[in-house]
Amino acid sequence: MDASEGLPAAPHTIDEFVKGYEEGRTLRGFRCRQCGLVTATWGLACSRCGKPGLEDVTLSPRGTVVAFTILHVPGDEFLNDAPYAYVVVELDGGGRITGWMPSVRSESDLRYGERVRFHPSYKPGVQFVKESVPAPSE
Ligand SMILES: [Zn+2]
Repeated sequence: MDASEGLPAAPHTIDEFVKGYEEGRTLRGFRCRQCGLVTATWGLACSRCGKPGLEDVTLSPRGTVVAFTILHVPGDEFLNDAPYAYVVVELDGGGRITGWMPSVRSESDLRYGERVRFHPSYKPGVQFVKESVPAPSE
C-alpha cells in the first residue's frame, strides 16, 4: 500500500524551495488557486482556505521588516556573524519569510517598516540587506 496515495502534490519540493534561495536564484512560494493567498511557507494545501492545488510563484526579493530580534547567541552556522538581526519580512506582493541581516548589530540599526531586499549569499538561510545599501556589482 502506498501511503502517499491520495495526497495532493506540491508544485515544488522542500528541497527545491531551500535550493532556490541557497543557490541565490529566487525566493519561491505558492499561490492558492482558490483564494489567491501568496505564501512563502512550504505546504501541500492553502493555509487560509485549506484547499490543495497550490501553484508555483516567484516571490518578490523586496519587502518590509515586520518583526525582528537581535541574536547575540547564534547557532553554530552563524557563530562568526553574531550579533545579527533575525527578521520577518513581508514581501511585496505577498508572502512572509524569515531571514537574517548580518549588517544589523543592534536594535537601533533597524526599525519596523524598514525596506529590505534579498541578498543571495553563500551563508545558510535567507539573507537580507537594507534597500538603501547599494547592490553589489555583478
Ligand atoms: Zn486558499
